[in-house]
Amino acid sequence: LQLNKQAENVVIREAVIVLLIAIGEFLALSFIIMRPVTTISRSLHADQGDHDHVTLIPLSSQDEFGELARQFNDTRLQLADANKKLRSRIDTADAQLRETNDQLRKQSDELKRVNEELRRLSITDPLTGLYNRREFEQLMSTDILLSLRHNEPNSLLIVDIDLFKKINDTYGHAAGDRVLRRLAAILTENLRRSDVLCRLGGEEFVVLCRRANREKAMLVAENLRRVVEAHEFQTGDQKIRITVSLGVASIPNEDNARTTDELFQQADSALYYSKTKGRNRVTHFGDIASKIREEPSLIKI
Ligand code: GH3
Ligand code: MG
Ligand code: MG
Repeated sequence: LQLNKQAENVVIREAVIVLLIAIGEFLALSFIIMRPVTTISRSLHADQGDHDHVTLIPLSSQDEFGELARQFNDTRLQLADANKKLRSRIDTADAQLRETNDQLRKQSDELKRVNEELRRLSITDPLTGLYNRREFEQLMSTDILLSLRHNEPNSLLIVDIDLFKKINDTYGHAAGDRVLRRLAAILTENLRRSDVLCRLGGEEFVVLCRRANREKAMLVAENLRRVVEAHEFQTGDQKIRITVSLGVASIPNEDNARTTDELFQQADSALYYSKTKGRNRVTHFGDIASKIREEPSLIKI
């Protein structure tokens, strides 16, 4: 029994020693392995998402963990440096791209402006700023053609300065130019906004009197004739007086104008009639159509 007791004590003592050794090893293991692993793990998590701050592993032991942490920290610092350089290059590229974009936008705006200016120049007459013959023909082919198709009222007036060659010969070409510019302004002032005034060339102008029937167009034409006759054109110290002759043609048209060319031809014949009958007058084609049938030489060829 005594022996049994002694053996039991030995077993208990040995068990206690084994337990103490186990606890000791556990604590040593915790200190040597778990602590650095936890430190590494924490600092790995702490670094996520923040580009400007690099979290290093605060471990400087001389063991394998210390060596691992040093290598890891070095790599991390290199990565952070590379990252910084890359971001700086991205920022530079971004700024350059923005600058290029700005320049492109400016160039595109300039191109648009130049295009608009070119378009304006291609449809206007440089001396008077009025629409030129090309634009007039364009307007004719849309506006008048529509009226012809739908038989809606529309009228065409051709205005021609009487004996303008004499004005040039007497006062000089520059004075003639000033008269042309002033006349363009006077005609514009005496037309409605819906009317379109063009310079056909030389001393010849044309008015699209939109929605004006024969009677209205004749009132407009007669008014223009009178206003020009009454105006005193000032060039330098010279006072110049001019008169204009007008030819008018209208839709609806009893004289069978079916195309814009035919309508223009009618207005031109009416103008020619005004010239042959002494100038400074207005003629509507409707008034001379029957005369022309009897006397075809009244049409200018
Ligand atoms: P009519 O009454 O028969 O129309 O006689 P006109 O002298 O007006 O007609 P004509 O066709 O014989 O002469 C037109 C003149 O217009 C000749 C030309 O010197 C002048 N002219 C044409 N274009 C311009 C221009 O841009 N500036 C100036 N100053 N004169 C021009
Ligand atoms: Mg003339
Ligand atoms: Mg002429």
